[in-house]
Amino acid sequence: MREAETNARRRYRARYVVNATGAWGPLTAAFGGIHSKAARIRPGKGIHVVYDRRLSNYAIVADSIDGRRVFLEPWQNVSIIGTTDDDYFGNLDDVTATSEEVRYLVQGIARVFPSIRTARAIGTYAGVRPTIYDYGPDEDSLSREHLIVDHAVDGAEGVFSMLGGKLASYRLFSQEMSDRLARDLCPGVACTTHEIPLPGGEKIIDPFRLAGEIETTPIAARRLVFRHGTRANDIGVIAREESFANTIVCPCEPVTEAEIRYVVRNEGATSVADVSRRTRLGLGACGGMRCTVRCAQIVAEERELSPRESIAQAKEFFEQQARTRLPVIGTVQARQEVLHFEQMHSLFGTRT
Ligand SMILES: Cc1cc2nc3c(=O)[nH]c(=O)nc-3n(C[C@H](O)[C@H](O)[C@H](O)COP(=O)(O)OP(=O)(O)OC[C@H]3O[C@@H](n4cnc5c(N)ncnc54)[C@H](O)[C@@H]3O)c2cc1C
Repeated sequence: MREAETNARRRYRARYVVNATGAWGPLTAAFGGIHSKAARIRPGKGIHVVYDRRLSNYAIVADSIDGRRVFLEPWQNVSIIGTTDDDYFGNLDDVTATSEEVRYLVQGIARVFPSIRTARAIGTYAGVRPTIYDYGPDEDSLSREHLIVDHAVDGAEGVFSMLGGKLASYRLFSQEMSDRLARDLCPGVACTTHEIPLPGGEKIIDPFRLAGEIETTPIAARRLVFRHGTRANDIGVIAREESFANTIVCPCEPVTEAEIRYVVRNEGATSVADVSRRTRLGLGACGGMRCTVRCAQIVAEERELSPRESIAQAKEFFEQQARTRLPVIGTVQARQEVLHFEQMHSLFGTRT
C-alpha cells in the first residue's frame, strides 16, 4: 500500500479486507489479484452546474429533451442543476464536465425556469456512479441497489467488495458489511452505531449565543454550527484565544481563520483543497479569489511549510477551480480568467 501524503510504501496484514472504493471497485479488486469482472460495475458519469446564489427556495424538477428528469435545487449558499447519467469509459481520476453536458441541463431547466439562461454559473462538479453492472438497460433504468461480494469464490478468502449503492443508503450498506464481519469477529454483538450520535451531533447549539461569545456575525456562527455541530464550541475557543483567529477569510461562505486552523489541527486537512472540501472555502461566487492565498498561508503556518509550498498550494487550488469553471464560461469571462492567472503568476513569480 502507498500512502498518498508521504509516498511511503507499507505492507499491512488483516484477516479481512473490504474493497469500498466506489467506481474504482473493479480496479482495486484487480490490484488484489482478483479478476475485475468479479467486482463488476457499470460506471455512470454525472455532472452538476453550480450557480452563484440561491435562485429559488424550492427544488424544481423539469423534463430534459430525452424525457429524463433534471432538477434545479438550492444547496448551501448556491444553486445547482443536475444531473446527467451516461456510461463512462474514461479515466476515473480525471472526470470533468463538458460544455455539451452543461447545455443539455440548461436546456431542460430553461423549459420551466427560463432565467437560468442568464443566471451566473460559477462552476461544475463531475463524478462517476458505481452502478451495479447490467448489459442492455439504459443508464437511468439501472438498479441503484447495493451488493456485497464475498471473493472467497474467487479464491480470495476474507476479501469483500461493496458495489453499487447511493449516498442515501450508505449507512444501511455499511451496517450490512459490518454485520457480516462481526458475525466472525465478535459473534452475538449487535450493531449500535445507529444509536450513537455522529461526532458533533450530541446536542443542538444556539448559533446566536455562539455569535455573541466569539464576537462574530450570526451568519458566520450559523454556518459554523451547520458544519461542525457541537465542535463549533472548540472552534470558538481558538477564535477567542488566538489573535486574529476571528477574522473572516472566505467572505462568500463565510469561513474564519479559527475554523481553518481547527480543521488542519484536528481533521487531517493538509491543503487548501482539503480545507475547501471541509468548509466550502473558495467555492462561492468569487471562486476563491479573495481567500485562497490567505488560506494557503494559514495551512503553511500550521504545517510548517515553506512560502514556496504555500504558493504552490494556492496555485493548485486556483487552477483546479478554473478547470471546473471552463465548461460554463463564455469567451469574455475566459479572457478575464487568463488575465487573472497572469496577474497571479506575476504576483507569485511562478511563471516558468
Ligand atoms: C452526479 C452524481 C449524482 C448523484 N446523486 C445522488 C443522489 O442524489 N442521491 C444519492 O443517494 N446518491 C447519489 N449519487 C451516488 C453517490 O454519490 C454514490 O453512490 C456514492 O458516492 C458511492 O459511495 P462510495 O463510498 O461507494 O464511493 P465513492 O464516494 O466514489 O468513494 C470511493 C473512494 O475510494 C477512493 N479510492 C479509489 N481507489 C482507491 C484505492 N485503491 N485505495 C484507497 N482509496 C481508493 C476514491 O478516491 C474515493 O474517495 C450520485 C453520484 C453522482 C456521480
